[in-house]
Amino acid sequence: MKELILLKSGEIALKGLNRSTFEDRLIHNAKKSLEGTGAYGFTKAQSTFFVEPKSDDCDLDRAVDNLSKVFGIAALCRAGIAPKDFEAIKPAAATYLHDALSAAKTFKVTAKRADKRFVPASPELCAELGGYLIERFPHLKVDVRTPQVTVTVEVRDTAAYIHSDQIPGAGGIPVGSGGQAALLLSGGIDSPVAGYMMAKRGLKIIAVHFASPPYTSERSELKVHTLLEKLVPYTGSVRLFTVPFTEIQEEIKNKCDEDYFTLIMRRFMMVIAGEIAQNNRCGALITGESIGQVASQTMTALACTDAVSPLPVLRPVIGMDKEEIIQIARRIDTFETSILPYEDCCTVFTPRHPKTNPRLDAVEKAAAVLDSEALIRRAVDGARSVTIRKS
Ligand code: ATP
Ligand code: MG
Repeated sequence: MKELILLKSGEIALKGLNRSTFEDRLIHNAKKSLEGTGAYGFTKAQSTFFVEPKSDDCDLDRAVDNLSKVFGIAALCRAGIAPKDFEAIKPAAATYLHDALSAAKTFKVTAKRADKRFVPASPELCAELGGYLIERFPHLKVDVRTPQVTVTVEVRDTAAYIHSDQIPGAGGIPVGSGGQAALLLSGGIDSPVAGYMMAKRGLKIIAVHFASPPYTSERSELKVHTLLEKLVPYTGSVRLFTVPFTEIQEEIKNKCDEDYFTLIMRRFMMVIAGEIAQNNRCGALITGESIGQVASQTMTALACTDAVSPLPVLRPVIGMDKEEIIQIARRIDTFETSILPYEDCCTVFTPRHPKTNPRLDAVEKAAAVLDSEALIRRAVDGARSVTIRKS
């Protein structure tokens, strides 16, 4: 039987006048995610998108897997296509859902008729199809409350679609519909999760990574590449800027009060990432900071870094426990990469007694011995970029 994929849009169905902009973005992102799995036609009706394979060699398993990571989709499923004729729909349902119905003990039938002229009406359709399926699968019992399988028949303009349970989509809103932001990406657990969370809220992402060779090695940079490869199915392709940070860190270490190392360093990160962000049409920075996690993530410390950022700083994991962040990292498959024990530039120059309650004027004073402007210029000019795409 011919099949297609049904996508149910979530939150964007609630959008008003600019709903079609969101929908166009969703279709664009969905098409991109399907690259390499075959050619498809897209149509939409109400809050459902119909993704119809154009040839028999489409890889629908991979297609569904890829689409399940596209933000803006609340639920999705494969469906069998039957003619709009109830006598054809009945055997088609039995054949298409044979495996699911054989394995289940209980089921129910639901119907949606976009075409209200279709006969029978929904209640009769459910009752009659339910009876037919019990004849074909005599072990089945109807359970309208908690069925193991729900058989759904959707009667639309040109065909009827038959499917069982949908799988949850990635939720959120389509990437790109909210503009672009720059993710400060370390090799740790938190920042990839932060990037995922903001992409889920519709932001297209570029990434900025600070590397301090020879204190940090090439494998630390490769780790960041690997993390982005794991994020790309959700975020779409990401341009990564790798910033040379050694000179700045050495200068701080040689010239500044040790207690302020981390804060001064983080302020440099904000300024440099901010400049790269502004050069690349970004409206915000994103970090993986969470209040109280480490000394540089107290409220006063965050105020000291915010003070130099030219853009708003989004911190989606700010109120989350490490355990909650790890749960997401596991789900999006970044966790195992993040915990690889490669050095990060932050861990190389860690002060023994970091200030947890810094005063902005004291930080500024501690940093005043540096020629910040020249250091920033060289770091920004020395940044290399590469685009990480879906493999
Ligand atoms: P993560 O697990 O994301 O590394 P963390 O708990 O280790 O976070 P910090 O090292 O204090 O926290 O860093 C806080 C945030 O600063 C990170 O989430 C990230 O956004 C940014 N950051 C830290 N190091 C780097 C780096 N080398 N390159 C780019 N951004 C960084
Ligand atoms: Mg880190």
